[in-house]
Formats: sequence, structure tokens, C-alpha cells
Amino acid sequence: MILNSQIWHEVITAAKASTANAPEWLRAVERGAAEIERVRYWSFADGVLTIISTTSGRTYRIDEHHTCAACENGHKACKHRASRRLVQRYYERLAQTPAPAPAPAPKSSDWREKAILVKRDGNALIVDGWAV
Ligand SMILES: [Zn+2]
Repeated sequence: MILNSQIWHEVITAAKASTANAPEWLRAVERGAAEIERVRYWSFADGVLTIISTTSGRTYRIDEHHTCAACENGHKACKHRASRRLVQRYYERLAQTPAPAPAPAPKSSDWREKAILVKRDGNALIVDGWAV
């Protein structure tokens, strides 16, 4: 599941731009991106993309030495390698993106809003609407 769709789309745009002159790879990038968005399961750890293919239902573990029928032992583009690169770049960009700023610390005047409302009404002391 892609949690940061803005970064994901930036990664895809950059990948398409860099493969614009390599139609085989451009197609692999498009198919790889669609695969990541559609599959029910994928994970990425230690440079290995694990994915359950939408077309075959097979589990692929795609590392840098990946080969398959489509890529003819690494001589051609394939959506698996494109998927892996996209996810790798996604995590690289995610790591470079600063985490959202923490919520500002409460101002010292905020104690007034949190304090229990206490007011005197005649001789009775009213605390949160109750006479005590
Ligand atoms: Zn492949």
C-alpha cells in the first residue's frame, strides 16, 4: 500500500521522464506502477520487492538479479524490475522527506481553558454546574 501518493506520483513521473527514450522501459514503468497500485500484497525490505502478481497470482521476490521470461534473463525490461526500482526510489524519497512538524507546544495561557470552571453563586460554590 502506498501511503504517500504525492511522492509515489513524483517517482513515477521521474521514472517516465528518464525512460522517455527507451519505449521498452517506459512501458515496463507504466505496467510496474499499475502492478504496485493494484496488487493485494507487496513489501520491500533489504532491496527485495516481494509481490503477489495480479496476473499469475504467483509470489515474486524481485532483487537486483531478477530474471524472468519477459526480461529474457535480464536482457530486456520487465515490469518486475521496474516495480522494484519504483518502490526503491519511493522509499528513498520518503526517507528524504522531513516528517511533519510536531504539534506546537501548548501556550502557557491554555491552562485557563483546561481548568475546571469554578464560580461562586451566592453562598454555594458551583463546580462544573454542580452546587457544592
Ligand atoms: Zn520480470
